[in-house]
Amino acid sequence: MSTELSHTAESRSSDGGPGVVGHREAGGAPIAAEAAATTLVSQSSGADWLARYSSSLMGVFGTPQRVLVRGAGCLVWDADGKEYLDLLGGIAVNALGHAHPFVTSVISSQLATLGHVSNFFTSPTQIALAEKLLTISKAPAGSKVFFANSGTEANEAAFKLARRNNGDGKRTKIIALEGAFHGRTMGALALTAKEAYRAPFEPLPGGVVHIPFGDIEALRAAVDDSTAALFLEPIQGEAGVRPLSAEYLQAAREVTTAAGALLILDEVQTGIGRTGKWLASQDAGIVPDAITLAKGLGGGFPVGALLTFGSTTSALLTAGQHGTTFGGNPVATAAALATLHAIDSQGVLQNVQAVGQHLRDGIASVEGVTEVRGEGLLIGFDVNAEIAPAMVTSALDAGFIINSPGPRTIRLAPPLILTIEQADRFLAALPSLIATATAQTAKDAK
Ligand SMILES: *Cc1c(COP(=O)(O)O)cnc(C)c1O
Repeated sequence: MSTELSHTAESRSSDGGPGVVGHREAGGAPIAAEAAATTLVSQSSGADWLARYSSSLMGVFGTPQRVLVRGAGCLVWDADGKEYLDLLGGIAVNALGHAHPFVTSVISSQLATLGHVSNFFTSPTQIALAEKLLTISKAPAGSKVFFANSGTEANEAAFKLARRNNGDGKRTKIIALEGAFHGRTMGALALTAKEAYRAPFEPLPGGVVHIPFGDIEALRAAVDDSTAALFLEPIQGEAGVRPLSAEYLQAAREVTTAAGALLILDEVQTGIGRTGKWLASQDAGIVPDAITLAKGLGGGFPVGALLTFGSTTSALLTAGQHGTTFGGNPVATAAALATLHAIDSQGVLQNVQAVGQHLRDGIASVEGVTEVRGEGLLIGFDVNAEIAPAMVTSALDAGFIINSPGPRTIRLAPPLILTIEQADRFLAALPSLIATATAQTAKDAK
């Protein structure tokens, strides 16, 4: 890295003087290398920003909870200077927290060296990342990687892979589970179960059926020789952190193999250390046909991947049958390489196991909590009344970012570097968050 960095500094000074890249806007001032976005954007209060947001941004996300301006580790700050402990991590994305120095430095240096090439070309970071992903997923010989920019794109590629397993037109069925979330683009949306997400966009790509969650009988009944693929999340994240048992994953492998269908695991949320191991599915002792990854993979930088296992599955999509402009670009793949390296070298998986267990034990002992689910630092818990949305608000007021995927359910997916001390801060606050939310919900109901 250091030679890369010094090379960059050298070429900067020879091109445009110290600290100045040799670019000029047409007729304008030179553009300083150290310019930050904060110098392009005026300062405003959170309320002002939100007013501007609502008149300029599409309403698909509703009103944002806060305007965030800065982060460091597991902390973020809003436009009004208030500090939060981030227990959601950009929904399982900020694996190493915010502004991780190593990831930041690798991204900056890669961008200053080679930022983008078309897929007529390749680059060392792309190849090295593909190799690393095949290693950590213990992929058999002949396995391959396709890079995308997001979870939904990784699943679009997997959907097309499934369509190529069509058995001369006889395999038209694709199976997913009730409660499944696989993304928002049309193919991934067809795999997603939630009616409210699907209904406005019918007709969706055809042939997808949803079967009851975790029901091995239903699985055996559904998978037959007209099945192209079965899509599973080892732990359903959006549905409130619902794990599939190892027994279910093993049955899924058995029936798909017997039927000639692909077993495709969506580890977009559960992969890359989230559960205290590289992949949530790895203890089940099965070899799937494909795995999709995204969220935590780039440590906050957008990158997704489809891994295909073995040479037969890896040959299903041939030259020209799929592609992307940005997928696998040097910066995104450098970000992911840096993230994987930091997870490896800084004992992050052990931290996830220890802090995750500590959090789950602590949450389970709080009055009003009825169930705690999940593994590592992907945690869902239920409370005994429909106060979860109000808890998100009371948590924000108290300086914690959490999420409610359902009226009684809270989800936590903090940075994998969360400390025991930070977990304890949340555990100490949890009883009062529940009390405040209960009072607020009762008041709102009147
Ligand atoms: C978030 C998520 C997706 C979609 O990823 P995007 O990057 O939002 O497109 C797909 N599958 C699972 C399991 C997810 O959690």
